Amino acid sequence: MTVPTKSPHPMNSPVGDAPGEPFHAPVIDWFDEHARDLPWRRPEAGSWGVMVSEFMLQQTPVNRVLPVYEQWLARWPRPADLAAEAPGEAVRAWGRLGYPRRALRLHGAAVAITERHGGDVPTDHAQLLALPGIGEYTAAAVASFAYGQRHAVLDTNVRRVFARAVTGVQYPPNATTAAERKLARALLPADEGIAARWAAASMELGALVCTARNENCHRCPIAAQCAWRLAGKPEHDGPPRRGQTYAGTDRQVRGKLLAVLREAPAPVPQAALDRVWHEPVQRARALDGLVADGLVEPLPGGLYRLPLT
Ligand code: SF4
Repeated sequence: MTVPTKSPHPMNSPVGDAPGEPFHAPVIDWFDEHARDLPWRRPEAGSWGVMVSEFMLQQTPVNRVLPVYEQWLARWPRPADLAAEAPGEAVRAWGRLGYPRRALRLHGAAVAITERHGGDVPTDHAQLLALPGIGEYTAAAVASFAYGQRHAVLDTNVRRVFARAVTGVQYPPNATTAAERKLARALLPADEGIAARWAAASMELGALVCTARNENCHRCPIAAQCAWRLAGKPEHDGPPRRGQTYAGTDRQVRGKLLAVLREAPAPVPQAALDRVWHEPVQRARALDGLVADGLVEPLPGGLYRLPLT
């Protein structure tokens, strides 16, 4: 994330007695010391590198994203380079990151950036949001991390930190609520540069210290202010949390079918796809889903390939 390296101390910001103020300085100072050196945080990543990383990181952990990100940026260093390729090449390069519709969406965004913005990732939040495949989260993340703007950037890590430290509950709701967005906006430092740093820092705290599996309060810079810890860490009593099952799901079958197509230099016959999964109804459903999503192109003669257009 290309955010200002060292920021003026948040306590000197014009925030006054804003609700987030007790958290800003400790979290940002912690980030200055502990932030991981990730390629999309280096200045050379630029706004395109930040955008690519945000697409990839939304549902995939950093260690799996790193090699694919490096190859992607080496092959397509600018949006126009990706836009000039068939969307199927984006799906192929996506490899095993999962949720491959993200590859098509990123390709679509690259085409729109090339056609509407002369090949430069727009700086304006509304223009980012107007790109195909870019939702509220990605627009805010790119505007904040690439351009140092003031936006609430609410990913699962940030939501968990805010739920615990501010709201005093163990987990955030299953889906982002209006109340969480309101809280995130209220917690933003008033100063633009500090707000961008806060967005990156609070996200990193959730990724490294206040994780879903384990909260490492002894290493946490806001342990003294954390509402959930101070309340004695009451157990989650909301609706059951969504699981992350994969084995046996249509998603797994889709992944296996796509892997065959990714590795094939030419269109493949139905029989080659049939070999990846034993259960014909589920296999057909998964393949139909891939075709409906535009990730696979059926050809005459029962052949299939990654999409060319
Ligand atoms: S004190 Fe513990 S629970 Fe609270 S924010 Fe820090 S790591 Fe999370």
